[in-house]
Amino acid sequence: MSKPFYVTTPIYYVNDVPHIGHAYTTVAADIMARYNRMCGREVFFLTGSDEHGQKVEKAAIAGGETPQQLADRVVTRFQDLWKRLNISNNDFIRTTEDRHKKAAQHLFKHVMDKGDIYLGAYEDWYCTPCETFLTELQLVEGACPDCKRPVDKIKEESYFFRLSNYQEALLKYYEEHPDFIRPESRYNEIVSFVKGGLRDLSVSRMSFSWGIPVTGHPEHVIYVWFDALTNYLTSVGYPDDMARFEGSWPADLHLIGKDILRFHAVYWPAFLLSAGLPLPKRIFSHGWWTVEGEKMSKSKGNVVNPHDVIDAVGVDAFRYFLFREVPFGLDGDFSTNGLIGRINSDLANNLGNLVSRTLSMIEKYYGSRVPYRPEKDALSPDDRQFADLLENLHGEVTAHMNQQTFSKALDTVWQRIDAANRYIVTNEPWKLASEKSDRLEPVMYNLYEAVRLVCLEIYAFMPATAVELWTQLGLTRAVGALEDIVPRCASVTEDRVRREPFQWGWVKSTPEQQITIEKGRQLFPRIEKTEKNLETKNEVKKVEQTAPVQEMERISIDDFAKVELRTGKIIAAEKVEKSDKLVKLQVDIGTETRQVVAGIAKAYGPDVLVGRNVVIVANLKPAKLMGIESQGMLLAASDENGLALAGFERDVAPGSRVK
Ligand SMILES: [Zn+2]
Repeated sequence: MSKPFYVTTPIYYVNDVPHIGHAYTTVAADIMARYNRMCGREVFFLTGSDEHGQKVEKAAIAGGETPQQLADRVVTRFQDLWKRLNISNNDFIRTTEDRHKKAAQHLFKHVMDKGDIYLGAYEDWYCTPCETFLTELQLVEGACPDCKRPVDKIKEESYFFRLSNYQEALLKYYEEHPDFIRPESRYNEIVSFVKGGLRDLSVSRMSFSWGIPVTGHPEHVIYVWFDALTNYLTSVGYPDDMARFEGSWPADLHLIGKDILRFHAVYWPAFLLSAGLPLPKRIFSHGWWTVEGEKMSKSKGNVVNPHDVIDAVGVDAFRYFLFREVPFGLDGDFSTNGLIGRINSDLANNLGNLVSRTLSMIEKYYGSRVPYRPEKDALSPDDRQFADLLENLHGEVTAHMNQQTFSKALDTVWQRIDAANRYIVTNEPWKLASEKSDRLEPVMYNLYEAVRLVCLEIYAFMPATAVELWTQLGLTRAVGALEDIVPRCASVTEDRVRREPFQWGWVKSTPEQQITIEKGRQLFPRIEKTEKNLETKNEVKKVEQTAPVQEMERISIDDFAKVELRTGKIIAAEKVEKSDKLVKLQVDIGTETRQVVAGIAKAYGPDVLVGRNVVIVANLKPAKLMGIESQGMLLAASDENGLALAGFERDVAPGSRVK
């Protein structure tokens, strides 16, 4: 069996309340896990919780619980969120499990036997009432930051790790493995930190007992970081199942936040070097999120609760936004406008339109049958070029995924979506259909393949949506569920990558074995902003649709084209006498001025109408309202807040065609 692709998140401090930062790292790991599985690789994806240490012990005592009771109670906050976020981890490790205590003690003893752990004295500031060691930097005006009382300098017996011995070895390793720490700015930061000199590291404590005892010296507990980092070994069998361990270790990717970079990029490799174990292949340190331009903090009350975002926009839109909005590795800003803008433009407009137009045309032109596959050689040069463009998608996305440049991967996918939408506009399938052209079938097959290949590439980011889209494409019934069929077809061998499902032409519908699409619910609804921002709950909600789209009668794009919509500018307005609803308008539509009678007087007084841009149905038969001729109709919508005229976000020249 080949070594699995091994990806990890940090283990999260169990008493924290999960926020957007935890969700970010964990979804990133999930994306890597899912993408690699889809490409046919075996994957091992680990997350978990860090449950030891003085803070847990103190919080438990304050709440009248044992530390274990506290941990058991609050660990579900993470586990529940990961279920909601559709996280596909293979293991969830808790540092209070026996398998982990054994691993941490084993590693500690191994390093000690090697001579890299020695007994010394740890000296620092100590707050006796709080029973807490504090560093010089943590003191506030020389006093305890928690209780404000004076602190004492005390010495405590402690085991030390000879970190100072590993400066040269680490620097050599960094130099030989320039991809070990990503992004590059973090690599440079760590190299200069290590060049600045390394002090030995205290790796045990006597001042509290909630931890893993040092073997043979139970008055010492293993320092939480030494304990926590070992989790990456525990989960793959260390030290009891060394065959499994050797087949799984090292990790391919540790994903972390930049606040814990030093532990992962300096201390962890030094422990491993000492123990004679291979080093992880890459440590990727991502940035932090601000909220509406401000640093997230409990005191400001602006901590984004992932559950609220999921309630508001759904799991997949949230996952998409996190990785499209900001290059992975840089800091980003979480804002309601940014979130809604992304959802409406990228998902509802670009992708949603491609999917709904393609499926609607297949339904209309072929009674839902998937178009027959043309021979690639028989394609026209333009159609062939488009097919090639689709086929190159997977390779380009994979290259970005291998570097964790997620926003570039998505950008690549969206360039193809744009190209597909342009392909529709350029080739006008509705014209090919009305002309009964032979080219309709290859064009529609190309569009079907565009949607299918995009579906595969968005799967890791929006798994539930992609699985559903796959079903709508008729493929779950025809070949099997996306999550089952693709990894099998795409299994990777060392030197040869079979990638049929990612190639143009994988789907073959024949007269004998027809594949039919199954149009279902709209997968990419628009989101409307209704309240001020995400600090107040439910401030965004899905636009309620009066009827599910699939239940409405469908028209073709050429039916729609019969309606001539034009932009107009209101140049005069007056109330219609004896009517409280009607206004008589003069509307400039570029080539002429139209008189329009509109039932909008309750919402708009004549004075606010003059100068306004409107949309007018310009080829409507004239009608008489209260004896006045109306030569067109304005577009408007009404909801519980009343009536609103359709308009444009900027001034548009009168007479422009709306389509
Ligand atoms: Zn104190």
